[in-house]
Parts: sequence; C-alpha cells; structure tokens
Amino acid sequence: MSHLELADIDLAFGTHSVVRKLSLRLEKGRIGCLLGPSGCGKTTVLRCIAGFERVAGGEVRLDGELVSSAALHTPPEQRRIGMVFQDYALFPHLTVAGNIAFGLRGMAAREREARVAELLAIVGLAEQGGKYPHEMSGGQQQRVALARALAPRPALLLLDEPFSNLDVELRERLSHEVRDIIKATGTTAVLVTHDQHEAFAVADDIGIMNEGRIQQWDTPYNLYHRPRNRFVADFIGQGVLLPGTVLDDRQVRVELGTLHSAIPVECGSGCHNCARGCTVDVLLRPDDIVHDDASTLKARVVKKAFRGADILYTLALPSGTRVLSLVPSHHNHAIGENIGIRLDVDHVVTFHDDSSEALL
Ligand code: ATP
Repeated sequence: MSHLELADIDLAFGTHSVVRKLSLRLEKGRIGCLLGPSGCGKTTVLRCIAGFERVAGGEVRLDGELVSSAALHTPPEQRRIGMVFQDYALFPHLTVAGNIAFGLRGMAAREREARVAELLAIVGLAEQGGKYPHEMSGGQQQRVALARALAPRPALLLLDEPFSNLDVELRERLSHEVRDIIKATGTTAVLVTHDQHEAFAVADDIGIMNEGRIQQWDTPYNLYHRPRNRFVADFIGQGVLLPGTVLDDRQVRVELGTLHSAIPVECGSGCHNCARGCTVDVLLRPDDIVHDDASTLKARVVKKAFRGADILYTLALPSGTRVLSLVPSHHNHAIGENIGIRLDVDHVVTFHDDSSEALL
C-alpha cells in the first residue's frame, strides 16, 4: 500500500477541465514532485491532496484512508497535512518560536517548548527563536515555515513553489537543505515546481505534468535517459532528434554525417515494435556527444555557451545537421573551429515518426 495514492482524479473549474484522470503513488518517506509548465494544474493537484479543492471523480488516499472522492471529502484540518507556501505565510506578530509552536496547541507547555527547540535545531536556527519574521532573510523565513509545517509531525508535507521568492544561489542551497531536513525527519512530501533543477535537487520521484495529466512518473534518471514521450524528452534537459534507421531489435543506425555515414547504437529496450528499415527519431543528449581529436567525424562549432564547469557547444555536422555537445570547459574551442566528435552512449531512446510515444 502506498502512503499517498491518487487514482483517476478529475477536476474542472466550470467548463475548464484542469485535472484529467490523474493517478500517482508515493511510498512512505519519499519526496515526490509535480513538475510542468505554468498552468498545467500542479497547484490544483496539491490543493486536491490538501483538501482545499473537491475532486469531481477518482480517489485520494492517505495512508490507506480514503480522504477524497466525488462522494466524500475529509476537511483539510483532519488530514494531518503540513504546508509550505511560496510566500512563507508566517504570522508577522509572532516570534519565530511562536510561529513554530502555532500548530502544537493542545500539547503540554514543556513538551511544546522541547519540540520547538528541536525543530529550530533541525532547520539550523537554534539561536533565532526570539526574532520576528521581518528580522530574518527570505531563506531563513522559509526554514521557519518548514519548521512550522513539520512540528506537528504531519502525515504528509506539501510544498508549493517554496523557493520561488529566493535568488538563484540561495534557491539552490536551500533546496538541498530542505531535502536533507525532510529526509532526516522521515517525512513523506510532495513538492510543486516548474523548475527542473529544483525538482532534481529535492525529489526522489517526479511526475511530469501537461494539460492536467501526468505524462511520466519516474526517477530523475529515467526521465532524462528514458523519456516516455516527446513532451517529456523536450521538457527535461536538452537534446536533438536525429533521423535513424532500425537495423534489428537491438540496434538503430544514426546518420551523423557524410564522412562517417552511420554509427550503430544500441536501442534502450529494443525497437521490437519497429520493423527493420523503419525510420525513427533518435534522441541525443548533449552528454551523448563527446570531443575526440582522434575521430574522423568532424563538426564545426557554431555557438558556445560557457557555463563554468562545462561548455555547451552547438555543432554543425558535415550534413548541416546541428547537434549539442556538453564538455568540460578546459576544452575551449573557438567558433568556426572544426573538432573531432564521437558518440558516447550505452543506449538511445527512439520515437516513431507518427507517434509521440517513445519506443523503449
Ligand atoms: P503555475 O505554475 O503557473 O502556478 P499550475 O501548474 O500550478 O501553474 P494551476 O494553478 O493548478 O496551475 O492552474 C491550472 C489551471 O486552472 C489554470 O488554467 C488556472 O487558470 C486554472 N485555475 C486555477 N485555480 C482556479 C480557480 N479557482 N478558478 C478558476 N480557474 C482556476
């Protein structure tokens, strides 16, 4: 039994269908993430889990218990869910300790104080309990919001774009810290974001959403290396699709250029649905193409983006086709230079011409 289970949930605002037969399962102690473009319905799904929206169909189960269906709606306050929002939503008139203690009403005073102290230590604010929210930085305020949400030991923690108000550097640091804190407390959590780097940094399982549906629910590795359809392939990471020809059930030939007309590549789990000679699109990621001075396959540098540790090159093959190549930045080539390249892949993912589904 999964800790959180959504089965075929539907929701519409008026005639606008926003969530469509959406299903997912999240195991206890794991961090799930809903990732997708603006307006695809991520926050609405989170609100369905929290109980702020009623589902029109399907079921939401928390720890095996049915909390939402068309016929049943457990109110939010009875779901034991903790929430962290983009704007922190701290009480300005309460101290940091007061904010964290807020959800612990009903607990004996001494016990409550001990729990607040424990949470302050977990989020690295042990000496700051007496301050007010306006005396703290954005990153500190978000850690207080996290401590407040975790204090009552929620059955599930929901985080809605929690890092959006922070600058890029802090966002990256805090996302790692937040993951560590959630993991250290053994909490099961669902994060909503439109930023894939944030999703990769925090989540164990990610659901790529588009138009109210989950396109693929998978680990970050599989989303990048084994995208199920063209939408996921395009949304996660960069890459190019090159024409390929199926050789047999394990191999596809990619045309990389006129000098070296073909390179055989193993196909992920076989192209068994595809007959020999069938034309497919082969997904090549920037890390699939490496520089190799010894290679006779040459490509011309047409664009380069310096990113610190690495450089993302746009290269033109002899055929004119463009590919992307990501290499350590000490391989610093000039625009117009011809460099040797080769494929460095253990499998590739292919798509049929007439289908958006990947052949894995
Ligand atoms: P973003 O990343 O921009 O926050 P999202 O993926 O979280 O987007 P939602 O906020 O879930 O998307 O919204 C999904 C769709 O539902 C949007 O078209 C939005 O305009 C619409 N919507 C959301 N809430 C309501 C509401 N209360 N009434 C009517 N339409 C709504």
